Amino acid sequence: MSINLPIVRAVAIASCGPPWQRGVGCTEGGLTLRALLWDVDGTLAETERDGHRRAFNRAFADAGLPIHWDAHGYGRWLRISGGRERIAAQLQELEGTVADPARVEGLQRAKQHHYNALMTTGQLALRPGVEALLRQAHGAGLAQAIVTTSSRSAVNALNQHLLAALPPLFAFWVCGEDVERKKPDPQAYQLALTQLLDRGLVTSADEVLVIEDTSVGLMAARGASLACVLTLSHYSRIALASRSGLRAPLPAAAVVSQLGAGSEVLQGPPCQMGEIALSYLQALLS
Ligand SMILES: [Mg+2]
Repeated sequence: MSINLPIVRAVAIASCGPPWQRGVGCTEGGLTLRALLWDVDGTLAETERDGHRRAFNRAFADAGLPIHWDAHGYGRWLRISGGRERIAAQLQELEGTVADPARVEGLQRAKQHHYNALMTTGQLALRPGVEALLRQAHGAGLAQAIVTTSSRSAVNALNQHLLAALPPLFAFWVCGEDVERKKPDPQAYQLALTQLLDRGLVTSADEVLVIEDTSVGLMAARGASLACVLTLSHYSRIALASRSGLRAPLPAAAVVSQLGAGSEVLQGPPCQMGEIALSYLQALLS
């Protein structure tokens, strides 16, 4: 499925070498990248299609509900932020009445149980290029943090099972329980920026880059005045492709098909050596 963004295939650009080899302070006169803020679902892993969707279906089946979200149809429910909100909307559509909050909560708990089980049985993996970029940023001394409006338990499951082989990477997590308003509201990113500033990890928002996969996440990041790279996931690729009039650029520093090698730059500056690595992200702030 094509996306109406100008595709810029990776080409070599002049550089004094990757910043993680030059040290964090080398910016060639531009701003210094000092922190990466990572979205989780769709960004670190294809958790929506392969994890959350399947977990919701197992919870619905446990409860004897005649609901099954297939991979294609789930994209519609993703327009609703938050698992409880998604369940409540589906029940209301099915039954024509507002769902009992206790029932929604029970389904959400069952869903989280199934999601954790999918993680522990190795049925999810990090997206291409994610582990390499996490390691590069860690090696270069950048601060890294998780900023999601999913539950802390879901992040914990991912951290324990998909990131277990990596050193401790994240200075903190901002999760759904930490905010009153989910993305696209900027509250989660505002909170993360406050944490970075309070801990002395950055001196301004200009030193921070967000990595997201959806326009909802992009809106949240931009609402907090943070630069953002979109790495399109299964559902955000479909959503962008189905939108007409997308010839106007998104308010993203870059839009890429994935991180790491083999990526296409769909919007933004050409990429050095065809790999969305730390040098490319640093150049976006320069
Ligand atoms: Mg996401």
